[in-house]
Amino acid sequence: MTAQADYSALVQRGLSLDLTRGKPSPRQLDLSNDLLKLPASYRAADGTDGRNYGNLQGLAELRELFAPLVQVPAERLVVGGNSSLALMHDTIVHALLTPVPGATRRWVEEPEITFLCPVPGYDRHFTITERFGIKMVPVPMNADGPDMDVVERLVAADASVKGIWCVPKYSNPSGVTYSDETVRRLAAMPTAAPDFRIFWDNAYAVHHLTDTPDELADLPALAAEHGNADRVFVYASTSKVTLAGSGVSFFGSSPANVEWFLHNTSKQSIGPDKINQLRHIEFLRDPAGVAAHMKRHAELIGPKFELVDKVLTERLGDLGTWTSPKGGYFISLEVPHAAEVVAKAKAAGIALTPAGATHPYGKDPDNRTIRLAPTFPELDELEQAIEGLAVCVRLVAEEGLIS
Ligand code: PLP
Repeated sequence: MTAQADYSALVQRGLSLDLTRGKPSPRQLDLSNDLLKLPASYRAADGTDGRNYGNLQGLAELRELFAPLVQVPAERLVVGGNSSLALMHDTIVHALLTPVPGATRRWVEEPEITFLCPVPGYDRHFTITERFGIKMVPVPMNADGPDMDVVERLVAADASVKGIWCVPKYSNPSGVTYSDETVRRLAAMPTAAPDFRIFWDNAYAVHHLTDTPDELADLPALAAEHGNADRVFVYASTSKVTLAGSGVSFFGSSPANVEWFLHNTSKQSIGPDKINQLRHIEFLRDPAGVAAHMKRHAELIGPKFELVDKVLTERLGDLGTWTSPKGGYFISLEVPHAAEVVAKAKAAGIALTPAGATHPYGKDPDNRTIRLAPTFPELDELEQAIEGLAVCVRLVAEEGLIS
């Protein structure tokens, strides 16, 4: 059958499938249902009454539990609310309004601020910087992280470059984990701006899909070794460990940065939700508890990643290339005319993340990248969606050949 005939049949089926966002499935959320019955005690180990105001930095036991997982010592971790994205957003607001350690002035006083954006990247990072009028410069992603020759050149040449967005492990959307050499170069590189910051969004630190997890070099430690301790802002959360809407988030950094962050946060809040923190301590217990829990997630979503790989291999052949990540939440598919493919899929009832979303300002200059988020649908729906997507890729390729 021609792709056109397959596509007509696909449209006739009247599908309504959604692969747009990296959400955990209901079965994944069920893994954490015991949280709904916790905490058994509202007292922290040090006697803190979790019901009351206070403890801006968050409970020590929870910081100790996550410290090894996010590579920041407990005393330099801050526990936030349910969203690490909110912490990233607010860090930028703080930097605009209060000089970060090492800065000569507030970012709002700078004539121009630039952030480097490894692409393909996470659309919500780009939305934050775009909101504040921060200029975004794309940097190509390689198999071992951002192209460091480009990064080093840009940060050395231009003092307006104040930041870089990084998802260093099982990156969104390519699944890439930064190599040791990439991390070392990020830690060591000279920057024209004294107040340059790496926004190290380690969202998928513990989200392995295999028994041979990727290892990520310790950027905070390496940066400190190179005399750049203040360069790194670390973020993470349990959004995809426990409950996406009701997890806990983390900010970690150097002593000076943590003091700066808490000073600013103290103007916003009298203290975080410590009942939710206690709930997470009781439920996850220790790093081994987190690892065991993440294995259960992998059992649910591993087959989904395998299915996408299988269908794309069978149906696309050399019409596209895609990643086979060892962890995280996304697959990055590269095909010609990505926007047209996404539009055809939409018309057939298959919602995909808009083409271009993986790039700053929503503009993918090569019109090639489509982010696939396989975790939410169950296997049968996922199979229908990827089969349908493959029909759309073939159709667009066929139309391209004909016209
Ligand atoms: N960072 C990355 C790289 C993500 O992919 C996501 C969600 O998809 C988030 C952050 C959102 O994190 P949170 O739920 O903690 O705000």
